[in-house]
Amino acid sequence: MLLAVVRETCDKMFQLVRYGRWLKNLKKSQSNLLLGFYISSTTTTTAARNESNPSRSSPPPIRVSLTESAGRGVFATRAIGAGELIHTAKPIVSHPSLSSTTSVCYLCLKSFRNRITSEAQGVSFCSQECEEQSKVFYEVEKQADWSAYREYCCTQGLKYPLLAKRLACMVTCGVANAESLDILQPAILSPEMILQMEKEFTLLRSAFEEANVTDEQMAFLTKQWYVGVLARIRINAFRIELAGGLYDYQDLLSSAAALVEAEAAVGNAVYMLPSFYNHDCDPNAHIVWIENSDARVKALRDIEAGLFLVASLILF
Ligand SMILES: [Zn+2]
Repeated sequence: MLLAVVRETCDKMFQLVRYGRWLKNLKKSQSNLLLGFYISSTTTTTAARNESNPSRSSPPPIRVSLTESAGRGVFATRAIGAGELIHTAKPIVSHPSLSSTTSVCYLCLKSFRNRITSEAQGVSFCSQECEEQSKVFYEVEKQADWSAYREYCCTQGLKYPLLAKRLACMVTCGVANAESLDILQPAILSPEMILQMEKEFTLLRSAFEEANVTDEQMAFLTKQWYVGVLARIRINAFRIELAGGLYDYQDLLSSAAALVEAEAAVGNAVYMLPSFYNHDCDPNAHIVWIENSDARVKALRDIEAGLFLVASLILF
């Protein structure tokens, strides 16, 4: 288990090196334009969420810029105190792990404590809000028979295709854009990986074709789209492990090891702003999930205005 964690961490670090190279290849002006858009989108989202809490309606104290040596990075725009919540982020796309499908909310991954839902009863939502938000894409999902696709994921031990499937359902019904993940760094794929993705794509596409989905709705669903989405999910997806009532970082560190041992991940999710943070063994920020897939980025220590924010690798 420990070896697997070390291997995953090294893999992530290599991916981060590639991340820097990829970003250097982006035209600076084009990047800044896109980043400006996403920062303002995030600020709007945060402000909207804090409407019921006027004391926290200010935008996040960060900016995203390109750096000379580390590609894209997140910087503090003012002094941030240790323990301060820097910002929260909702996922662009999320999905429970195959083993958690019936024990967590099908949208926000909130755990159903002391409640057992059988496979036959299908998926559940934790609230009317989650059910409402999922209504449209879940209607599309229910129209198709996913057994072959799901079986393939199970036998191959794949978790990321579930995110691609959900995004495809969201795009099909118009609640997400087909280009939603384009700004994120793609992984470099080997021919073997592409071959496997093409097999998954065939299963995904035929599930849609047999469902009541029009050609127009499926126009985006090409092999190129699928491979591009999975290439981005591979590098940017977070494994969601709920910390429950733990707020202290040392508690989180020790619980993280226990969670890894217990395979306690409830699912995976892809975010925009949290994907822009660089990573370091000596982080000044960390990302945690308390009760659902809403990511919370907190300061680990006092951070001066203008400083580069780096997050821990441990909970990724
Ligand atoms: Zn929920």
